[in-house]
Amino acid sequence: MNVRPTIRLEGIRKTYGEGDMAVHAIRHVDLTVMPGEYVAIMGASGSGKSTLMNIVGCLDGPTAGRYLLDGVDVRRLDDNRLSGIRNRKIGFIFQSYNMIPRTSALSNVELPLVYARVPAKERRERAIDALDKVGLAQRRNHMPSELSGGQQQRVAVARAIVTNPVLLLADEPTGALDSKSTADVLDLFDELSAAGRTIVVITHEDEVGSRAQRLVVMRDGLILSDSQTRPGSTTALVVPAQAPERAGGGRHGISVEEQHSRAAADGPI
Ligand code: ADP
Ligand code: MG
Repeated sequence: MNVRPTIRLEGIRKTYGEGDMAVHAIRHVDLTVMPGEYVAIMGASGSGKSTLMNIVGCLDGPTAGRYLLDGVDVRRLDDNRLSGIRNRKIGFIFQSYNMIPRTSALSNVELPLVYARVPAKERRERAIDALDKVGLAQRRNHMPSELSGGQQQRVAVARAIVTNPVLLLADEPTGALDSKSTADVLDLFDELSAAGRTIVVITHEDEVGSRAQRLVVMRDGLILSDSQTRPGSTTALVVPAQAPERAGGGRHGISVEEQHSRAAADGPI
């Protein structure tokens, strides 16, 4: 069986600025995420999580390295094609919901399908179906201001899945939520994962990270550890988190130490 990775990052580096001002936000990252995986990316502030998210989300390009999204080398694409790929292949979920105000939940969920030029009738049906999946079909005509934060985030999840993307990419999705709404959103992610969705969630909350099947920890622009935390729908090598000298080796083909030494060889840090 030869399954194509959803995400394949090879030797990714990202440097902001130049010379003395250069910040090596990503020093060296190799990461492969297979279809159906549910991955959390954690790490202290400044460790490079948002930079990695921007690269994975095709919102920014790496300084060096190769990124294949669902088999497509995104480096070869111009801005127009990149936004097309982003719209088709990735469903984004942000901390701040990013709802369009004074626009119904249904219209918010339909929006990515408008960009994708899906006909109105099909758009409506698919948006209602997505809202149904997050338990909010009854609220379809509510404005964002008439919904709680947790409900708005569930609408955002509906908007993210309505295009049937290969990847759900969430940046601190529970960062603005109370504990009840956090539990609702995490339950929803569990359901989507069980249904075979590929999920990458960036978080600093242990509660969120521990719900994923695989935990990638970043530090100083490198992957510090990469471990299978719960059995997932795809088979994977189990890498014990307490064995950092081996962590990540099975996944990336090279050990964490090797990645560190390659990063050092890449240049000054
Ligand atoms: P995290 O999301 O884990 O907090 P970031 O990816 O935001 O980490 O940042 C990693 C490093 O890159 C930090 O040192 C940060 O200050 C720096 N950085 C992030 N974005 C920029 C930018 N646009 N310009 C310069 N430095 C940046
Ligand atoms: Mg960040």
